[in-house]
Amino acid sequence: MLRKLLFWSCAVVFPLPLVLTYDSLSTDPAQLKLYIFLGLTAYAWWLMSILLSVRSSRLDRFVGLPAIYGLHGMLGVLAVVVAYVHRENSYSPSPLARDLGDWSFYGALAVLFFSVFFMSGWLVDRSRLLLKAKGLLEVLFRHQLSLWIHRLNLVIVAAIWLHAHLLVRMNQHFAFMVLFDLYTMIVLGIYAWKKWIAPDAYLTGSVTRNDALGGSARGLSVTLDNKSTTLQPGDFFFLRFEGSSSVGREWHPFSVTDDNQETLTFTIRQHGDFTGRLGSVEPGTRVRLEGPFGRFETIIQGRDREAPLVLLGMGAGVAPLLSLAAAHHTTRKIHLLWAVRSPEEAYYQEVLEDYQKASGDQFRFTVSIGRLHREDLACVLSTAEINEGSFFIVGPNPAVLANQRLLRRVGVSARRIHQERLTM
Ligand SMILES: Cc1cc2nc3c(=O)[nH]c(=O)nc-3n(C[C@H](O)[C@H](O)[C@H](O)COP(=O)(O)OP(=O)(O)OC[C@H]3O[C@@H](n4cnc5c(N)ncnc54)[C@H](O)[C@@H]3O)c2cc1C
Repeated sequence: MLRKLLFWSCAVVFPLPLVLTYDSLSTDPAQLKLYIFLGLTAYAWWLMSILLSVRSSRLDRFVGLPAIYGLHGMLGVLAVVVAYVHRENSYSPSPLARDLGDWSFYGALAVLFFSVFFMSGWLVDRSRLLLKAKGLLEVLFRHQLSLWIHRLNLVIVAAIWLHAHLLVRMNQHFAFMVLFDLYTMIVLGIYAWKKWIAPDAYLTGSVTRNDALGGSARGLSVTLDNKSTTLQPGDFFFLRFEGSSSVGREWHPFSVTDDNQETLTFTIRQHGDFTGRLGSVEPGTRVRLEGPFGRFETIIQGRDREAPLVLLGMGAGVAPLLSLAAAHHTTRKIHLLWAVRSPEEAYYQEVLEDYQKASGDQFRFTVSIGRLHREDLACVLSTAEINEGSFFIVGPNPAVLANQRLLRRVGVSARRIHQERLTM
């Protein structure tokens, strides 16, 4: 909680140097200054949002990618709100500067609505109807196209940069403009470095196994050229297949399924354009991996060693939980619950039985065909698990939210429930 507070407070600090420098140099009336401060704050928040989108591994270990993307999204909303107040209350003598400001505002508003619907779970995770509508519209707006539409924010930032440069009330202050340009150059420089240069230093490996699992998933193993030294149980990577024309060169996140640091195994449910084509990936295909990311192990290490761990996975969501089980089944009390659609989808039954045998009564598991209901949970969870357990839920967003609600109803406190959703 303290980490998140510290992280969120960066949003207050980030615009301050710009605002304070302008305040110290400008002789504008106080009221006009206030609206200019709002414009500067909106610009700084857009820049900070870009900075957050580069997926820093260190920041991920500190607060987690969901919190990072959460702040990224909130800044997008808040920036549009303050930009609106700025636009309504300030004036611009230069028609070009005014037009650029207006286009940027409407562009940012349109990209925001689009992104909230297609890229965040804020609406679609909470309404079946909207989720269905998103599914239908994704025939046109595939995730990769949505990413490109989202990247129009970079054009909007460039337009606002020009807008500020055209305004005499700003460009007359040399020191302020230097700071303004430094903010812009540093953020866009980090973004460009992360997109085009950093991937050269990412982990690489080759596909050594690609087998069908059940009717709808694949087990894909990648032997790394160099062992991943920072990998922790429960972690995930963004994967890109190099030189495989059949699946394209998109980055997609998948969780590691066991505790092997040299050969990483991924469990991938095939349901979309990219995952649906994974069957054609041949052994030997080169893979680039960004990561690792994840906070499950850090959370576990911070908890009482005697408290049970309850791992609740839906479908391929069991992957990171299996890697936690692989690392801890002999040393921690673990109950793994796995909800699958049909008996043939329980493709890790034998692996679970092996962990159970090797655990000396520390590890047990429950496989549920179909979703878990409140009565099932009340029945399979022990009193110690409900009262003291740390819960880790992984699956599709609406299922994670539904299970979180069920756990709260059977008496698990919110601060002991941790989750990872399979969309960002
Ligand atoms: C942290 C994390 C860990 C994951 N681990 C696993 C795992 O171990 N096994 C597994 O089967 N799935 C996992 N997923 C989900 C997996 O990444 C998506 O199912 C996959 O990217 C969908 O691609 P698609 O083109 O086949 O499907 P599509 O039908 O194009 O997309 C389905 C949905 O997946 C999301 N999505 C699509 N592409 C991406 C992308 N590049 N990045 C993020 N989200 C995307 C979108 O919300 C989209 O609505 C994980 C997701 C996250 C966020």
